[in-house]
Amino acid sequence: MNFEHRQVIIIGAGSAGLTAAIYTARANLKPLVIRGPEPGGQLATTTEVENYPGFVNGILGPELMEHFEAQAARFDTELRYGTITSVDLAQRPFRLIVDDEKTLLSDAVIIATGASPKYLGLENEKRLLGHGVSSCATCDAAFFREQEVAIVGGGDTAMEDAIFLTRFCSKVYVIHRRKKLRATKILQERAFAKEKISFIWNTLVEDILGEDEVEGLLLKNIETGETYILPIAGLFVAIGYQPNTKIFQGWLEMDSKGYIHTLPGSTYTNIAGVFASGDAQDYVYRQAATAVGTGCMAAIDAERWLESQNLVSVSLADKWGRLADSQD
Ligand code: NAP
Repeated sequence: MNFEHRQVIIIGAGSAGLTAAIYTARANLKPLVIRGPEPGGQLATTTEVENYPGFVNGILGPELMEHFEAQAARFDTELRYGTITSVDLAQRPFRLIVDDEKTLLSDAVIIATGASPKYLGLENEKRLLGHGVSSCATCDAAFFREQEVAIVGGGDTAMEDAIFLTRFCSKVYVIHRRKKLRATKILQERAFAKEKISFIWNTLVEDILGEDEVEGLLLKNIETGETYILPIAGLFVAIGYQPNTKIFQGWLEMDSKGYIHTLPGSTYTNIAGVFASGDAQDYVYRQAATAVGTGCMAAIDAERWLESQNLVSVSLADKWGRLADSQD
């Protein structure tokens, strides 16, 4: 059978994947980016991004990702809808299966699958997802105009989301399992300054109540053991992210949480020719700026590796032609 064969396939179109695309495209490797189920990655569902360098007054996350994508498309990047549902990394070229159907072959693979929101794991959370339970304040805040909502979590996401929710909601409860927030100081201070935000410390969400939509939460104070009901119309879950690396289990070395191991100072995985970038391999920093950095590293690692294997099929004339184009 004749399968489509590429030099580089990038899995994921968030900040790491699109940076890898820009660099591999400029290296004339004609990358194919498989966008996956969440194109744009986490930034596509955030509001104001204030800490991404180069934007003095901040920029909206979705707008920033549009810039990334346009820049990748400006060079020879092909962006394609679809999700890689399984891989075979034992064969060369590597085999990637799209949407359980189509097989793609690639000499090198750059993983940029990112991470997705974690959930509490409650039965009613699953049942009421989309009916008052959400992990995306940016997407769903407007459904809760002038209503009381809660957000669970104590990190940067929870603070940013809580602040954002005050634009729409009459009251925002932040429920945190400890007395100390994990979020950066600047976000903590902004959240503390918002009159509409109330903090409920040392507390767990034991259950989510409501038949067809969320009506309240069963909360438990872990210091006193007291349980009580908090009536609210919506629950936003902001308790962190888990790496999207399930399809690589059994192929690539990873830690117990699923973060792919890379050789220190590089994006090399345990399989030569497979490179990992962004939140799929970064448990420590997890920032857009660091994902961009490792996306760039993965592209350079892949290019050098392909060259070392004599797998780069770029003619010099082609390369010089592109250089002249880019200088026009
Ligand atoms: P995070 O930093 O991992 O924080 C998750 C929060 O949820 C923690 O407060 C944690 O409690 C709590 N939590 C975890 N599991 C829980 C459970 N089962 N039940 C109740 N609470 C639970 O995640 P994040 O806030 O999504 O941030 C992820 C990364 O993105 C971080 O590196 C963050 O700095 C970055 N980020 C940056 C920005 C920004 O700079 N503007 C914005 C958003 C995210 P404990 O504190 O007790 O562990």
